[in-house]
Amino acid sequence: MNMSELYQEIILDHAKRPMNLGVLPDATVTVPADNPTCGDEVTLQLRVADGRIEDVRFTGQGCAICMASASMMTRAVKGKRCEEAGALFQKVHDGVQGTGEMPKGEISALAGVKEFPQRVKCALLAWEALREALGIRKGERTRVVTTEEE
Ligand code: ZN
Repeated sequence: MNMSELYQEIILDHAKRPMNLGVLPDATVTVPADNPTCGDEVTLQLRVADGRIEDVRFTGQGCAICMASASMMTRAVKGKRCEEAGALFQKVHDGVQGTGEMPKGEISALAGVKEFPQRVKCALLAWEALREALGIRKGERTRVVTTEEE
């Protein structure tokens, strides 16, 4: 696989016109995340009620892989129960790193990222923010999710 094959049309479409981009005024959780290696910055917001993600939006800027992944993530988890979203995080995490199968559907377009280690952090940034958000109760303080080791 070469670099141009990584940027499939579906990825470029999502990067150009991200879904669920914007501020969620009644968010119950807000998680900022950054990937200094690439310069990607994403802030993820969820509205969680009764264990379900009622709505999800994100703001920020990043490379095509980061923005496409964030866009596809919001679409995939909207309306899902938190435990389903957590399970999906794990599958995507393993799939992008090449240690498991990518989930079916449009997210599978990210499967090629495993060939490009420098893009893995880009692809996982929004998903890491999701994992953090799922672990936070309403009113708790959030920390910034970063791909850099502390
Ligand atoms: Zn990036």
